Amino acid sequence: MGAEHGQFGAEWKRAFGGALRSALDLILPRDALDGDARVGAHGLPAEAWSRIHFLDGPVCDGCGAPFDYDPGPGVRCAPCMARPRAFDAARAACLYDEASRDPILKLKHADRTDLAPMLARWLSRAAAELVEAAEAIAPVPLHPGRLLQRRYNQAAEVARPLAALSGVSYLPDALVRRRATESQGGKSGAGRRRNVAGAFHVPERRRAQVEGRRILLIDDVMTTGATLEGCARALKRAGAVRVDVAVLARVKEAAGLTI
Ligand SMILES: [Zn+2]
Repeated sequence: MGAEHGQFGAEWKRAFGGALRSALDLILPRDALDGDARVGAHGLPAEAWSRIHFLDGPVCDGCGAPFDYDPGPGVRCAPCMARPRAFDAARAACLYDEASRDPILKLKHADRTDLAPMLARWLSRAAAELVEAAEAIAPVPLHPGRLLQRRYNQAAEVARPLAALSGVSYLPDALVRRRATESQGGKSGAGRRRNVAGAFHVPERRRAQVEGRRILLIDDVMTTGATLEGCARALKRAGAVRVDVAVLARVKEAAGLTI
């Protein structure tokens, strides 16, 4: 994985010279480009970086799950065929596993919002087609009570630089979480869907920002996708023509996994 990213970086450097070096540092830590063992400029050691399982191969168009072979563009996995999602398409930058958990939990709980621009670049690469098609970018909201506790919404911390990077309008408060949902941990897919049913809505004064538009919804981790589906339903009720999803990480198998 590390060698592949090194090669990718070398091609970019040849193609664009030094002008994009500082931008590249956000995508690829300096050590991944130069092959030394120092900690990258943005806090991710080379070794940690090389263990992250980026989803840059073929994936299901509906949920972003990796395929073992390439069935061609736009193909959906069996679970997505059996039960179409409330969102239209999804991409994840990497698998949620021991390697990616650390930077994501640091963003979420350890005030490491300095990691957000790098993580936004992961999304801009993994979800490039969805970002390009989006007319607005919105984060999955936290309940106001939780926002007070944590002081920031980790999804918004990534959605904001992604919107700036891609020149797409940013909707920080188009979606509202109107009640604190119980933790999704330990719940089945159906249980998670019940838990978030009706939890999200678009306030009347924000409807015009959503109506008739293609919205790209951002979150940190997708497990069953129930929260993202709750948000997608609320956006569609408010008139969004299409809702796509981009997350930093997704679990490989949704069934039976808790975080
Ligand atoms: Zn799928």
